[in-house]
Amino acid sequence: MPGEFDLISWIQSQSKPSEFLLVPPGDDLAVLKWEGKIKPPKTDAGPAGRNVDDLLLAGVDQVLEGRHFESSKHTPEQIGRKVVNRNLSDCAAMGCLPAALLVAVALPDHLRSAADGGTGLLDYAKLLYAAIKQTAAAHYCPVIGGDTASWSGSLAVSVTVLGRSAGVAPVTRQGAQPGDGIYVTGPLGGSILGRHLTFEPRLAWGRQLATYRPTGLPCVKAMIDVSDGLSRDLPHLLAAGPQHPQLGAQLDGDKIPLHPDALALSTQSGKPPLHHALHDGEDHELLFTSPVRPPIGIRIGTVTAEPGIRVSGNLLSAGGWEHPL
Ligand SMILES: [Mg+2]
Repeated sequence: MPGEFDLISWIQSQSKPSEFLLVPPGDDLAVLKWEGKIKPPKTDAGPAGRNVDDLLLAGVDQVLEGRHFESSKHTPEQIGRKVVNRNLSDCAAMGCLPAALLVAVALPDHLRSAADGGTGLLDYAKLLYAAIKQTAAAHYCPVIGGDTASWSGSLAVSVTVLGRSAGVAPVTRQGAQPGDGIYVTGPLGGSILGRHLTFEPRLAWGRQLATYRPTGLPCVKAMIDVSDGLSRDLPHLLAAGPQHPQLGAQLDGDKIPLHPDALALSTQSGKPPLHHALHDGEDHELLFTSPVRPPIGIRIGTVTAEPGIRVSGNLLSAGGWEHPL
């Protein structure tokens, strides 16, 4: 059955190269050239005081009723927070600074009187918007526009994030090399028990990793946030591209950090906690490769020239989330 990645591949094949589009669709965010020039802080790479490019990054992420939340169970505050933090997590994965958000909301008519104690659609929308604004404001990221409509369908919230590189080269999914260590910033698995709503985007860590240059070169070669599950997101860092052929990975199952939720879910599902750490999505920890020891992150394996992902010697097939189409 075709899936969302088939559609993404098709869209990528349709896009034309542009001198303004430095990283095309297919990464966590696109990277565009714009007119901005900034004076980097002295702590950033490059001689202090020299103007460096300030690149514009852009991406969009949506949450849908029944797929990412249930409006009968989850509050508008929880839903608003989740959709913003998903976008901010993409900023973290690129090592950029969030600059602004645009929000499109499709409000279901049935929330007009039924939901949230009968406070009405407008009040519901205000609660949703307030959560979006507050979550973004915690990262100095204003909501600069959007669109609202009501309809007979389900609640859908789409957020477009604009980010800026502010003197630090964006970290893409391409660039891993055989021998690089594979690192993750925190424990994985079982997010469905609640963490998929409450996770924190790893913005500070993403920026710290993107700026860490112990040898004068960026230590992080490739990075992504774990949204679809380790088994689905790691292949993005290993996929063939302009910088390298198809790569593989050796993971040490004992080193993959298990979240307590993975253990709790394991008692319900009957599957091992490691299964949940490998295949559950929406952890939103950063997953990256580096040839040197990074300032943060838990090493879980090594990039190999031989394709395929092995966990403690066993070949791993992708079991994370892909939207069926
Ligand atoms: Mg992402």
